[in-house]
Amino acid sequence: MTDLTGLTAVVTGGNSGIGRAMAVGMAKAGADVAIWARDEKRSAETVAEITGYGVRALAVGCDVTDEDAVAAAMEQTVTELGPLGCLVANAGVTDGAPITEMTLDRWHRVLRTNLDGAFLSTREAARRFVAQDSGGSIVVVSSTVSRYGGTGLAAYSASKTGLLGLGRTLAVELARYRVRCNILLPGWTRTPMTETLQADDRFMAATTARTPVRRWGIPEEFHEVAAFLADPALTFHTGNEVVVDGGYSVF
Ligand code: NDP
Repeated sequence: MTDLTGLTAVVTGGNSGIGRAMAVGMAKAGADVAIWARDEKRSAETVAEITGYGVRALAVGCDVTDEDAVAAAMEQTVTELGPLGCLVANAGVTDGAPITEMTLDRWHRVLRTNLDGAFLSTREAARRFVAQDSGGSIVVVSSTVSRYGGTGLAAYSASKTGLLGLGRTLAVELARYRVRCNILLPGWTRTPMTETLQADDRFMAATTARTPVRRWGIPEEFHEVAAFLADPALTFHTGNEVVVDGGYSVF
């Protein structure tokens, strides 16, 4: 059983879906957890759930595309919860359209949140870990879509493939500081992000039929994985791509 007692964890986009589940999982393992997201009401609800596990929790209003906001969020987090132990770069958006209809604005919005946001938050974490001389763990949330693409997913898929490059580079570059970086690749999961797809019967039938476990995932399936990857005892676990997709990507 992973024991994260005394560890401070940050989950960007931790007030919804997969991020919320990972935040809860780390709290159950004993970590104090900061949620960085824009919707303060939703974050307050998540904090209430997390504190129910007897740990400290903090809701930080933060747009991860805003460089100053990310720096301020980190400062507030370590001031209130203590030195950083783990950052999960999970915040993300999607916006799908055929490439012939995709606008530059829509493309930029997806890349700004998914790539710039992950760059800014992991850079801030790396700076902290180096200054603390503490080691630490970074988890970058990509997607199985990074490996196979998908109709209408040009911007999303490009951003998620970019995150593989970011995560791999951090694993190589930060190992000398005892900072590990692993990449999580979720598959189709029932969250607010995928609500439109969930309402599309033909899409659901096709993706479910292609999934060996014959269903989509639910957020709770991500409880343990971030807690596991955050465990400071796992000193040899870095640069991994952890796929959680019911076997979709190997079918
Ligand atoms: P949700 O829509 O449920 O959650 C997205 C989270 O990101 C919310 O907490 C949202 O909070 C936050 N967020 C979005 N933009 C910003 C921003 N600019 N600054 C700070 N926070 C932001 O989605 P999921 O839980 O499904 O997705 C979580 C991650 O998992 C994403 O990176 C997604 O790409 C990835 N993923 C999801 C899959 C799925 O099938 N669901 C499959 C593969 C990967 P707020 O709006 O309050 O800011």
